Amino acid sequence: MVDQTRIEEALRTEHLERAYQQAVRNQIFSPLAALMVTIGLWPYVDHALLAGWLALLVISSVVRQRLAAAYFAAGDARFESVRWEHIFAGSMALVSLIWGIGAWFFVRDDNALVDVYTYIFLIGLSGGTAAQYASQGSVTVVAILFILGPATVSMLNVGDALHYCMALSGMMYVVALYRSSEMLAAATRRALELTQQLEDMARVDALSGIANRRALNEEGVRIAAHAVRTGRRCAVLMLDVDHFKRINDSLGHSAGDAVITALGGLLSRMVRADEVVGRIGGEEFAIVLPDADEPQVMALARRVLDAVRELKIVYEGVAIPVTVSIGVSINVPGDDTFQSLLDHADQALYDAKRGGRDRVAIFGSLPAPASGSDDALAAGIAPANKTGS
Ligand code: GH3
Ligand code: MG
Ligand code: MG
Repeated sequence: MVDQTRIEEALRTEHLERAYQQAVRNQIFSPLAALMVTIGLWPYVDHALLAGWLALLVISSVVRQRLAAAYFAAGDARFESVRWEHIFAGSMALVSLIWGIGAWFFVRDDNALVDVYTYIFLIGLSGGTAAQYASQGSVTVVAILFILGPATVSMLNVGDALHYCMALSGMMYVVALYRSSEMLAAATRRALELTQQLEDMARVDALSGIANRRALNEEGVRIAAHAVRTGRRCAVLMLDVDHFKRINDSLGHSAGDAVITALGGLLSRMVRADEVVGRIGGEEFAIVLPDADEPQVMALARRVLDAVRELKIVYEGVAIPVTVSIGVSINVPGDDTFQSLLDHADQALYDAKRGGRDRVAIFGSLPAPASGSDDALAAGIAPANKTGS
C-alpha cells in the first residue's frame, strides 16, 4: 500500500533539507564554538597549530554557507539531483576531518585536562552530527569516525588508564549514538508513511477505489494545461450509469454500491497508465486521456460500453445487468480548460441519455454517418448537437 521507494526518497529529501537548513543556522555558532575551543586550549597547545586549525574551520564553515545558499537558490531543482546529497556528504566529511585531525594533535600525554576537554567536546559534536543527517547511516558513520577516530587512536597510544577508559567510553557512545540516530530515522519514516497514507486517502474514492473528484480534477487540469501548451489533443469521457435509481430502489443501496465498486474496478483495468479515471460523484465517472484523437477516444468509449454490458455483477446471489451512457469531449487544439472539457462531456452525456442510453455521444460533432458500412458504430453512437461554444 505504502510506496516504500517514495518514502525513502521523501526521507532523504526531508533530511537533506533539514541538514542544509542546519548548516545555515550554524553559520555563526560553528566558528564561535571553534573559537572557544581555541581560547580554552591556547595556554596548553602550540599556537600555530591552534590558529591554523581555527582558520581551516572558519574557511570550511564559509564554504558550507556558500553551498547551502546555492542549494536553496536552486529552487525545486534541488530535490531532483543527488548531487546535493554528495556535496553535503563531502562537506560534512571534510569538516569532520578538520575537527578530528586537530584533535589528533591536541591529545598528548602531557596534559590530561586538555584531552578530556577536547574529547568531551568532540563527543558532543558527533552527537549533533548524527542528529543532523540521521537518514544516511553511512554518512553519519564516516563523519563520526572522522571526528572521534583520530583522538581515540591518540588516546589508545597514550595508553594510561584514564586515556584507555576515555577511548572505550567514546566508542560505546558512538554505538549508542548510532542506535538513537536509527530511531530518529525510523520515527521520521513513520511520520512520512502516515502523511503519504493520508494524502492517498484524500485522493482515492473509498467505494470505487479509483481517484476521487478532487484528484481527478487536479490531474485533469494538469493534463488540459499540458495539451494547450503542446498543441496536443486531450479528451474527457464522462460516464453515468443508466437507470441507477432502479437498482437502488429494487435491490437496495448496498447493491447500488456494489455496482459502483465493480465499475471502478473495471474502468481502472481499462485505462492506460497515463490516463486517469475517477469517480466524480454518485454513479458518475470520468476518464481523462492526455493524448487522443477522435477515432481512438470513440474506440475506447465503445470498448467501455461493451465491457460494462458484459460485466457480471452479482449481489447477494442476484445478477445486476448494468449499462452506462458516455459523453465525450475533445479539446480544440491550443484551447479548452479542463472545466470546459467537463462541461462539454456533460452536455454530450445528456445527449447520449436522450438518445436512448447505453451509447456514446461526442460533443460538437456532426451526426455520425448512418451508413450501413458500420452498423455497430451507427447503432452505438448518438451524435450530440453542437451546443454551447
Ligand atoms: P439516468 O439513466 O438518467 O442516469 O438515471 P438514474 O436513475 O441513474 O439517474 P441519476 O443518475 O440521477 O441517479 C443517481 C442516483 O444515484 C441518485 C442517488 O440516490 C444515487 N446515488 C448517488 N450516490 C450513491 C452512492 O454512493 N451509492 C448508491 N448506492 N447510490 C448513490
Ligand atoms: Mg447520475
Ligand atoms: Mg444515472
